[in-house]
Order: sequence, then C-alpha cells, then structure tokens
Amino acid sequence: MVDRARSTPRIAVVGGGIGGLAAAALLHRAGLPNVVYEQTSQLKEVGAGLVLAPNAVRLLRRLGVLDHLLGSAVPLDVGWEFRRWEDGRILSAEDLAGSCERLYGEATYTVHRADLLNAISSAVPAGSVELGRRLTAVAADGDTARLTFTDGSTVEADVVIGADGVHSTVRGAVTEPSPATYSGMCAFRAIVPADRAPAFARRRAQTLWIGPGHHLVHYPISGETAVNLVAFAPAGDVTTESWSATATVEEFLAEFAGWDPRLQDLIRQAGTPGRWALLDRRPLQRWSNGPITLLGDAAHPMFPFFAQGAAQSIEDAAVLARCLADDVTAPARALQRYESLRIERTTRLQEISHGRAHVNHLPDGPDQEARDAALAAADPLVANGWIYAYDPDRAETDAAV
Ligand SMILES: Cc1cc2nc3c(=O)[nH]c(=O)nc-3n(C[C@H](O)[C@H](O)[C@H](O)COP(=O)(O)OP(=O)(O)OC[C@H]3O[C@@H](n4cnc5c(N)ncnc54)[C@H](O)[C@@H]3O)c2cc1C
Repeated sequence: MVDRARSTPRIAVVGGGIGGLAAAALLHRAGLPNVVYEQTSQLKEVGAGLVLAPNAVRLLRRLGVLDHLLGSAVPLDVGWEFRRWEDGRILSAEDLAGSCERLYGEATYTVHRADLLNAISSAVPAGSVELGRRLTAVAADGDTARLTFTDGSTVEADVVIGADGVHSTVRGAVTEPSPATYSGMCAFRAIVPADRAPAFARRRAQTLWIGPGHHLVHYPISGETAVNLVAFAPAGDVTTESWSATATVEEFLAEFAGWDPRLQDLIRQAGTPGRWALLDRRPLQRWSNGPITLLGDAAHPMFPFFAQGAAQSIEDAAVLARCLADDVTAPARALQRYESLRIERTTRLQEISHGRAHVNHLPDGPDQEARDAALAAADPLVANGWIYAYDPDRAETDAAV
C-alpha cells in the first residue's frame, strides 16, 4: 500500500518509446506524476512509418496531441489494399475515405514514427524524463521495487512500468523468460523520397503486395513527401533483430525477382535498406508482479502484420493510467486489474498477427485461390471493428464481449 502521507505512488516508467511516453503522458493527465528512465541520450525513433488506426487516433486526440501530428500525418483514402504479386491485380481494399470516420469516429493516418514520438512527448513534462538511464535490474521488495541503473545508482518506486520494448529487462522480474525463437522471416525497410517514388506508391493508400513466401507494404508518410516501404522475406541466415542492421538494394531486389516490374522500380529507390530478423515470441501468461508491470512490446511483442503494436501500447497506457487513478492507494491491485483488462485483447492480436504470416505468403495454388476469394468477399473494415472501435474508458464492458 502507498504511504498515505505521500498520497500518490512513486511511478517509474522504464523506456521512453511510444508506449512509455504515452503512459507517462496519460498518467500525468490523470494527476499521477511519474519519471521516465530512458537508456538513450535523446528521445528518438527509427526512420520508418506507422499506420495509426482509429483506436490509436482516438486516444491521441483525447491526449490533446493529435493536432501536433496533423501537419505531417497522411489521412488514408484506402487501407489494406491487397494486390497480387505478379501483376498488381487488386484482391481487396478498404474504402477508408468513405467509411472509416463514419464507422469509428476517426480517420486512419500514416505517420513517421519520429513525428508520433514528438507529438506524444509534447504532453510529457520535460523535467520528468531522465535520459541516459539504462536499467540493469529491477526487483520487487514487498510493496515497493528497487531499480538499478548502469552507473550503479538506484531508485525506489511504488509502481514500475516496464515499457522497455521487445528486449525488456523488466520482463525478467515479472515472469519466466520466454526465449525468442527464429521465425524464418526478415524485414527490409526503407523510406523513399516521394519525387523518386512511382505514382502508384504516392497514393493515399496502404498497399500490400502478397505472394509466395514474401509480402511488401508501402504507404506515403511525412506530409506525402516520402513513401514508407517495408517488406517481409525468408531470413536465411539473418538473425540480428535490430533496426540499425542494413542490407543492399540488390539483396532486396533479389527477394522480389519476378514480381510486378513496377514494384521493382520502387525497390530500386530504397537506398541502403534496413534489414532485421523477425523473432517469434509466444504470448505471456502474466505481466505483473506486485508493484511491477509491463506495457507495449515488453508485454506483447507481435508480428507487425496487423499494424497494431504501437496502437496497443497506447491503449495499454490509457487503461493503466485509469486503473492506477481509480485505485491510487493500492497500486498492485490496480496493476492486476490493468493486466486482466488488457491481456485477452493483446493476446488475440498477437495470435492473429502471427497467423497472417502464413496466409500472406501462400504459394500459388488452391489455398492461395481460396484466400484471394475470401479477401474479395470480406469487408475487413467492418470485420475488424473489435480492433478499431475499442475505447479504453469502456474496457470492462469491451473485455467481456
Ligand atoms: C516493421 C514494423 C512495422 C510496424 N508497423 C506498425 C504500424 O503500422 N502500426 C502500429 O501500431 N505498430 C506498428 N509496429 C509496432 C510498433 O513499432 C511497436 O509495437 C511499438 O513501437 C512498441 O513501442 P514500445 O514503446 O512498447 O517499445 P519500443 O519502441 O521498443 O521502446 C522501448 C524503449 O525502451 C528503451 N529501453 C530499452 N531497454 C531499456 C533499459 N534497459 N533501460 C532504459 N530504457 C530502455 C528503448 O531505448 C526504447 O526507447 C511495427 C513494428 C515493426 C517492426
């Protein structure tokens, strides 16, 4: 229990990525001061894009930071436009321009990750972020927890939120480590200046070209001055899971040899593409241990095939802030409630994201034909309503659905 003389718990957020900063901002907004401990010397994100679906946009608006983004965010007219690998034939597409706001009250946007991070950090008081603070250990001791950093310094907290990403250090304090396994896939990534990108890639569309063993996604970002490109291919002996590892355009092109020549024109503009291995992690059974919990990729890393990882970390942050604000004198109980409200939804997203790897990469044949027919018949914008309509303020009722 929190010392009543102190009235609010001492909250430490480990990690200043999208999830950690969203938690910090939403906690401050709920009247709960906190400190973010980030290992890097400045808040930064990798050069890459993100799709922000309505469930994330709704929360950014509530946080009051959406206006910061709207100058550079691109509202999508078309979402999940699946195309056949060899000729670009459209297999299905969501009409976002006509339906997204009507169905979900918000548009879908694409953003540069750095713009999103800047927008969220504008809602975090500057003095509450400590940079260059790499956590090496955290341990619960009754109602409190002790954090230890690389310089040997320690901090005591009543609540520790591990938002320290896929290689989380905090995770070891709440659950058995579950080693990542080789997924067999890697991802190429590049940002192409719009004036070097073919016209089809500059449209306000999130396009996915799917084919045997591979798929490639592109959409405009940064006020339509650039096109974000990310592609998934067999990993071979690539096992480095790092945003800073690179490949060559020739290697990238070789993976998509024989695909629609228009796609090859786009890949040729990829400069020095990033390439990293996608590792496979099973959902955790629990996230919290006394005063310590997890959030974002630390809690539920997922394959990026539903474009929901960052959105889920922002949802986590909203639910966590509400649970702590509702039960400020019993943080451990609040963390249990947070976990119980979130784990089923994020596990489901982990599982369906995992399954999409197989479906997107089917070789040509009867299964691929059945998949294409199913894509043509589906209305994913409606079918994914459980993702896009989610409102953390109704998490109890939504979780029961
Ligand atoms: C190719 C790709 C495409 C994606 N596309 C989308 C998309 O379209 N939409 C979407 O919603 N999501 C998408 N995602 C998922 C999204 O990027 C992640 O889910 C999200 O960034 C996770 O945020 P996070 O804050 O949990 O973790 P991270 O962004 O990993 O942040 C963790 C932070 O913790 C810090 N840290 C780590 N260890 C320590 C330590 N020991 N001490 C102190 N600090 C530490 C790190 O420096 C970092 O700042 C995509 C992911 C990939 C790989």
